Amino acid sequence: MEVVTALSDLRTRVGSARTSGDEVGLVPTMGYLHAGHVSLVRRARARCGFVVVSVFVNPLQFGAGEDLDAYPRDPEGDIAKLEAAGCDLLFQPSTEEMYPEGEPLTRVHVGLIGDDLCGRSRPVHFDGVALVVTKLLAACDPDAAFFGRKDAQQLALVRRLAADLSFRAEIVGCPTVRESDGLAMSSRNAYLSPEERRIAPRLFAALSTGAELVVAGEREPRVVVGKTLSVLAQEPRLDVEYVEVRDARTVQPLERLDGEVLLAVAARLGPARLIDNVVLHIDGTSVTVDAGEIN
Ligand code: AMP
Repeated sequence: MEVVTALSDLRTRVGSARTSGDEVGLVPTMGYLHAGHVSLVRRARARCGFVVVSVFVNPLQFGAGEDLDAYPRDPEGDIAKLEAAGCDLLFQPSTEEMYPEGEPLTRVHVGLIGDDLCGRSRPVHFDGVALVVTKLLAACDPDAAFFGRKDAQQLALVRRLAADLSFRAEIVGCPTVRESDGLAMSSRNAYLSPEERRIAPRLFAALSTGAELVVAGEREPRVVVGKTLSVLAQEPRLDVEYVEVRDARTVQPLERLDGEVLLAVAARLGPARLIDNVVLHIDGTSVTVDAGEIN
């Protein structure tokens, strides 16, 4: 695996791979890699001849008072995991490399999708995500880019951004990878104390209870949200930010549950803000629950 820090080197290496006939796959990350990230890299490896992973803690997607400085980092561990997963090129730029003029004047704002759900409490977050993903897609111009369904709103936003801006990359959504007790893997789980770590799987337990209700025939969003909230409420240390049912592609509210439906939760637990979701594929009376996979 080669490691580069300059956008010009990223362009050159990807250009050579393409000239030799390889499809290029891109996996954007913020590092401190875990099995969820690794599953994205393996999917990229299975599909593409040349796999690029970016590790960049993008300051633009952190608001004032958020955890930019505390965000966990493990450059050596990341390199070992990426080598093992078959990554060809690690792109690890500095902030100066990505934003040479300082704070960018250019904004990429994916209105309806980015302003809602997590965007309500994190008003600058999705503009930051949209800008950095745009820069990475523009510099790398991959055939496919891989994103986790754990960040379902981000996935919807990236799909829309890529369509609006006519990037040729296929945006590939990948299953949420979970710990054995159901907790969705996240770099931010490192913030949890042992006691909080014991409580955290309740998010997935609540989502599973909501999903079971839909499998049993419930189609009223308010009822599913209410049931999910009631499971979360049993744990007073969870400070629930939202539980919502949305169209998974557009992230817009639904009057009745039908099609590809996102059941999503965000909650604070001690120093961590946790998000999780399941996607329900509803066709008449048939319901398939996409909850991801246990590592
Ligand atoms: P991050 O480093 O948190 O920005 O995540 C980088 C990519 O990995 C994003 O596309 C995430 O959705 C994805 N990802 C993070 N956690 C998981 C997980 N538990 N399962 C699958 N994908 C994940």
